[in-house]
Amino acid sequence: MRITTDGIVVRQKNFGEKDRLITLLSRDHGMITAFANGARSPRSPLASSTELLTYSNFVLFEYKGRTTVDAASANQVFFGVRQDVELLALGTYLAQLCTEVLPEGEQDPQCLRLLLNSLYMLNEKKRTADFIKPVFELRLLGLSGFMPDLVACTECGCYEHEKMFFLPAEGELRCGDCMTGHEIGAMPLAPGVLAAMRYILYSDFEKLFSFTLPPEGLRQLGVVSECFLLAQLEREFPALNFYHSVKAPV
Ligand SMILES: [Zn+2]
Repeated sequence: MRITTDGIVVRQKNFGEKDRLITLLSRDHGMITAFANGARSPRSPLASSTELLTYSNFVLFEYKGRTTVDAASANQVFFGVRQDVELLALGTYLAQLCTEVLPEGEQDPQCLRLLLNSLYMLNEKKRTADFIKPVFELRLLGLSGFMPDLVACTECGCYEHEKMFFLPAEGELRCGDCMTGHEIGAMPLAPGVLAAMRYILYSDFEKLFSFTLPPEGLRQLGVVSECFLLAQLEREFPALNFYHSVKAPV
C-alpha cells in the first residue's frame, strides 16, 4: 500500500550501513515508523528530508507490516532552530515528548499543529524557549489524556483564592483553606501563573500563543509545568536533561 502524507520527523535512529529508522508525526495517519534506506548517504535524496525536526512530504510504501520511505521532500527545515544549540535541544525534547505520549497510528491533527506552531514560533523568534516549553508541555498533556483539573479547588469548588496550590501528582487545585498540610509536592501558584495555565489548557488553539507573563511568572510556570509532566509520565527524558545543560541562565 502506498500512502502520501506530510509529517515531521520526531525520532531518528541510525540503522544498517547508511539507513535511518524514522518516526513521523504525520498529518493523516498519526505516528508512523518507517525505514529510510540509504538516507545517511550525503547524496541520498532522503538525506535532508528525513532529518530530525524536518517537516516533509512523504511517499511511504507499506508491505507486510514494514513501512519504507519511497520519496520525501522537505516543506520546512526550521533552520533557525537547527543552528541554535538551546533551541535545537528544546525542539528535540518536544519531539521526544510526542513519541512518548502519542500512540502509533492514532491520528490527532492538533498534536502535529502544536509541534509545528511551537517550532515556528521558536524559529522566527516570536516567542522564547521559556515561553514555548510550558505551553507545549501542558497543551500536549491535555491533548493526550493527562488533562489536569484547573477549574477550581477540588475540595470546595472556589475558582479564585488568595492562596492557590497545584498538586502535580493529582493534577488538581487546592485553595489555602482546604490545604491540610499533608499534600505531597503542593506548589503555590501566583494568580498570573494559574491564569496562564488555564489559558494554555482551555483556550482555542488559534489564541494559544497570545498571552503574556512577566519573567518571574514564566519561571514559575516552567517549574510547575515540568513537575506536572514528570509526575504524570513517571520517566526521565534525556533530551530534557540535555536542554537544561545547554540552556542559557535567565
Ligand atoms: Zn478549597
